[in-house]
Amino acid sequence: MDHSHSHALFARAQALIPGGVNSPVRAFKSVGGEPFFAARAQGAYLYDVDGNRYVDYVGSWGPMIAGHAHPQVLAAVEKTMHDGLSFGVPNALEVTMAETITRLVPSCEMVRMVNSGTEATLSAIRVARGATGRSRIVKFEGCYHGHGDSFLVKAGSGVMTLGLPNSPGVPSALADLTLTLPYNDFDAATRLFDEVGGEIAGVIVEPIVGNANCILPRAGYLQHLRELCTQHRALLIFDEVMTGFRVAPGGAQQLYGVTPDLSTFGKIIGGGMPVGAYGGRRDLMAQVAPSGPIYQAGTLSGNPVAMAAGLATLELIQAPGFHADLERRTHALCDGLEAAAREAGIAFTTTRAPGMFGLYFREAPVETFEDAKASDAARFNRFFHAMLERGVYLAPSAFEAGFVSSAHGEAEIAATLAAAREAFAAVR
Ligand code: PLP
Repeated sequence: MDHSHSHALFARAQALIPGGVNSPVRAFKSVGGEPFFAARAQGAYLYDVDGNRYVDYVGSWGPMIAGHAHPQVLAAVEKTMHDGLSFGVPNALEVTMAETITRLVPSCEMVRMVNSGTEATLSAIRVARGATGRSRIVKFEGCYHGHGDSFLVKAGSGVMTLGLPNSPGVPSALADLTLTLPYNDFDAATRLFDEVGGEIAGVIVEPIVGNANCILPRAGYLQHLRELCTQHRALLIFDEVMTGFRVAPGGAQQLYGVTPDLSTFGKIIGGGMPVGAYGGRRDLMAQVAPSGPIYQAGTLSGNPVAMAAGLATLELIQAPGFHADLERRTHALCDGLEAAAREAGIAFTTTRAPGMFGLYFREAPVETFEDAKASDAARFNRFFHAMLERGVYLAPSAFEAGFVSSAHGEAEIAATLAAAREAFAAVR
C-alpha cells in the first residue's frame, strides 16, 4: 500500500502538533508505524489521502453508529447550517435533544449539553461533589473518563498504552481524592465502602469498560455498585459516553437494568460533531447553574449544527430492530474472527456487546482488567498491521474497543473475515 501522502502530512504535522496528532491514540504509538490521514469516509469505509480504502471498525471512536456520511445526517446538518452556525441564545434543537435523551434514558430526568465527553464527566463529578458535600470519587482501573485531572488515575487505553498511569500536571492533592477499584471485584468495592463510604461523593464507571478493550460486567456487579452507593448515600455515575445509545437505545443502563443517579454521554449524540451531555435525577440536575449554585457553562454548548447531526443519528438508532441488527452483525464478526483464529491455531477470544467488541490474543474468559492486560499485545500489534495492509482498520491499540455500525453489511464482514484468515496465518 502506498502511504506517501500520509507520510508527508505526518512529517508536517509532527513539526507543529505534539506527536503529530490532536489526540494521542491516533499516533499509532502502541501499534507502531505511522497513522494514515483520512481524505473522506462513507458508510463502513474510510479512504486515506493515498487512495487506500479501509473497512473501518473505529468509527471515529464511536459516534458513527449509522456509518460515515449518512445521507440523513448530512441533510440535517446542511439544512441547519444555512440558518447560522451558532447563536449564543437558546435554540429549538436543544430542547428536542433534551426531550430525546430524557425519553430514551429515563434515569435522566434533566440533561445539560456540553461539547465533549470530558466536559460531561468533569461536570458530573462536580454535581456529585456539590450535591453530597463530599470530595472523594471512586473510579475503576482501566476505565477512562476523558482527560480531566481527577480521572487520570489508572485510566485505560490512551494513558495506559503510553505507559502513563498518572499524568504530570495533575496535582497529587487532587489525584488523592480519586480512589480506584478493580472492576468486577465485588468484595473490593464492599471493603472500600466499609472503610470510607461516608466520604465518597460518587462512583463513576464505564458500565461496559470500552477503554480496557471491552470488559463486560459480571452478573449483578452493576447492581452491587448501585446498592453500595444507595446504602452510603454516594451517587452512582454511569459514563455512557461510549455505550450510550449504542448497546441499547437507553444504553448499558437499559441493557443491564440498573439505574444510575447521573449519566454522561458523548460520541453518538453528536453524530460526528463535538458534543457531550450529562444528566440524571431532577433534584441533582436542578442544582446546576443557573437554577442552582453548581457552576458549569459553555460558549458553544447546544450548538445547532451539532444538535442537528446528533438528532438525526438518534432518529436512525430508533428504527425498529436497529440494535438487534447491530448485535447480529457484531456476533457474525466476532464468531468469524474466533473461527479464523482457531483455524490458524492461535489463542484468541472476543468479548461483545451490541455494536462493540474486544479482541484478545489469549484464551477466554476476559472478565477483569488483569485478564485484558494478559492479552498478547505484541501479537495484536502485528495483527493490526496485517489487517491494515489488507484494508481493515481496527483500533490502533490492544486496549480499545472496536465498533460495528449499521453500515457494516455482509460484504464488509465477509471481506474482514477473509483478511483475518490471512492475518492470523501471518502472525502465527
Ligand atoms: N468517557 C468515555 C467512556 C470515553 O470513552 C471517552 C472518550 O473516548 C470520554 C469519556 C471522553 O470523551 P471526549 O474524548 O469526547 O472528551
